[in-house]
Amino acid sequence: MKAVRFIASGRPPEVVDIPKPVPGPGQVLVRMGGAGVCHSDLHVLDHGFSVPGPFTLGHENAGWIEQLGEGVSGWKEGDPVAVYGPWGCGQCKTCQSSAENYCERHASIPSYGGGLGSDGGMAEFMIVPSARLLVPLGGLDPLAAAPLSDAALTPYHAIKTALPLLTPDATVLVLGVGGLGHMAVQILRALTSAKVIAGDIDETKLAHARQLGVAHTVNTRNADLAAEEISDLAGPRGITVALDFVGAQPTVDLCARTVGRASRLTIVGLAGGVLSYSANNPPYGTQVSVPYWGSRTELMEVIALAQSGAIKADIETFPLDRAVDVYQRLREGKIHGRAVLRP
Ligand code: NAD
Ligand code: ZN
Ligand code: ZN
Repeated sequence: MKAVRFIASGRPPEVVDIPKPVPGPGQVLVRMGGAGVCHSDLHVLDHGFSVPGPFTLGHENAGWIEQLGEGVSGWKEGDPVAVYGPWGCGQCKTCQSSAENYCERHASIPSYGGGLGSDGGMAEFMIVPSARLLVPLGGLDPLAAAPLSDAALTPYHAIKTALPLLTPDATVLVLGVGGLGHMAVQILRALTSAKVIAGDIDETKLAHARQLGVAHTVNTRNADLAAEEISDLAGPRGITVALDFVGAQPTVDLCARTVGRASRLTIVGLAGGVLSYSANNPPYGTQVSVPYWGSRTELMEVIALAQSGAIKADIETFPLDRAVDVYQRLREGKIHGRAVLRP
C-alpha cells in the first residue's frame, strides 16, 4: 500500500510502497478515510523526533474499521471511526481517566502515537493498537471528520480548561487562524459568549475568521499597533484568555502584553517562543498553560459538537501522492483551514 513516510530530520517526506499491515491480538486495522496535515509535522520534518524514522506520518486520522484483531469485540467491520491520537500506556491513573495526552508513563513509551513514532494514517490502512483509541463517528464522513481528532480536539481541550474564566464579559484572543485556530473560533462560539478577537499576519486568514463569525480581527504584523488595537478592543480588563496557536516569540510576547490581571495565557503552538517573567509582567494572577492535545472523552465531546452542526472543519483534500507539495503549501501559509490527505 502507499504511505507517506518520515525518513529523517531535515529530509522531505517520501511516498513509498509498504506492505499492508495485519492486526495482531487486541489491535484494529483501520481503512483510512482521511489524514489531516498538521503544522506539527513540519516541526518533526525539520527538527526530527525522539523516535528515529522511518515511520508513516499522519496523526489526525479517521476511517472505517477494516479488520479486528484477535480478542477485539464490540466493533464491526465498516464502522466509521476517529482515531484518538496521543497513545498512552492505557493503564496509569491518568490514562484510565481518558487523558492519555498526559500519560504518567509517557517517558517510558517511545512513540507518541500513530504518525508520531508509530506508523500513522497517511496510508491506505493503519494499525490502531487498541480499540479503546477509537471513537465512533456516527453519520460523519471520515474524510471531513479527520481534523476533529487534533485540529479541533487540541483547542477544545485548551478552551474547556479555561471555561471558568470565559464568562460573557470576557475577551478571548486567538492568535493564528490556521488548522487549529479556525476550529478554536468555532468552539469558542459554541461553548461561550465571550468576545473573540482573532489575530494573524495573513489577511486571508483574518478574512476566514470573519467568515466564521469573528467580529474583531487584527493583523499582528506590527506588534506595537496590534497590541494597541487589541487592548482597545479588550478594554481596561485586558484579554481574559489568550490562546496562542503559533507559539513564536512575537505571538508569545503579544499575549503577555495584552492579558489582564487574573487572566490565562495558553500557548499551544510549538514555534519555540519563550515566555519570560518579571514583576507584574505578564500581570499578577495570570495562569500560564501549555496544553497538549486532549482526552478521549473530550474527543467524544468534539465529535458530538460536529454532529450537532456547531463546528465543522474547512478542509482542502489532496491525494496521498501530493503529500510533499501539500507540506510545502502548509509551510508557505497557503492552506485554507486544514489540508486532509485521502488514500
Ligand atoms: P497552521 O499552519 O495551519 O496555522 C498557523 C497559523 O498561524 C496560520 O494562519 C499563520 O498565518 C499564522 N501565523 C504564523 N506566524 C504567525 C505570527 N507570527 N503571528 C500571527 N499569526 C501567525 O498550523 P496548525 O496546524 O494550526 O498548528 C499551529 C501550531 O500548533 C503549530 O506550532 C503546531 O505544531 C502546534 N500544535 C500544537 C498542539 C499541542 O497539543 N500543543 C497540537 C497540534 C498542533
Ligand atoms: Zn497535530
Ligand atoms: Zn498512562
